Amino acid sequence: MNPISVKNLTKTFPTPVGSLEILAGINAEVEPGGNLAVVGPSGSGKSTFLHIIGTLDHPSAGVVSVLGENPFELAEAKLAEFRNQNIGFVFQDHHLLPQLTACENVVIPAVAQGKVSESHRNRAISLLQRVGLGDRGDHRPAQLSGGERQRVAVARALMNQPSILLADEPTGSLDRANAESIGQLLLDLQSQDDVTLVCVTHNDDLAQRFDHKVRLEQGQFVELK
Ligand code: ADP
Ligand code: MG
Repeated sequence: MNPISVKNLTKTFPTPVGSLEILAGINAEVEPGGNLAVVGPSGSGKSTFLHIIGTLDHPSAGVVSVLGENPFELAEAKLAEFRNQNIGFVFQDHHLLPQLTACENVVIPAVAQGKVSESHRNRAISLLQRVGLGDRGDHRPAQLSGGERQRVAVARALMNQPSILLADEPTGSLDRANAESIGQLLLDLQSQDDVTLVCVTHNDDLAQRFDHKVRLEQGQFVELK
């Protein structure tokens, strides 16, 4: 069973001038512990695709299976729990809470599962160590650089030991050197933890380092070498 399996996925959005077909019959499989980079022009539907496999949005038609389940059959509360336990997200903007420390931000996904324990805090600190910020746990986002904030966001995405990690232009707000190191960090974590990684990116250098690459064009995936 592949953790991500998409068959004939379509997504249309209603607009005042009729419906807009953004995804037009996408097929994709990502194997356990595998990785996939999705490139394509702005507005081509990359985020829409990522949101659907991340269970944040519903398909219009087609079959989407995440870890062997059809998540869209789950009731809202169950779906939120499924997402929280199995999928980690990294977005272009870090979305850290400014009033919390780096360590507290990393712990957030565990809060949904009940009371935060000492072991949660220890895990957050060890994740911060893994992303190279072991000595920054007490810093607030304003006291960190852009690259460091994104590292905290990566640590937060891994807090609940998800088996799927989804990243939407994770290097889009970073300078070249930071983009390079965040991209490599995601790939290193994917291979070390056997996490399945899907990454939307505009960064061709980053996409080239993935085992599988597709370009989203007119609602379809075109495989890239
Ligand atoms: P990308 O991430 O590749 O830049 P998106 O997936 O964000 O593209 O958007 C693809 C297209 O779908 C865009 O034209 C966008 O305007 C449209 N779109 C996205 N979300 C909605 C929505 N909720 N309602 C209507 N149109 C939308
Ligand atoms: Mg996008």
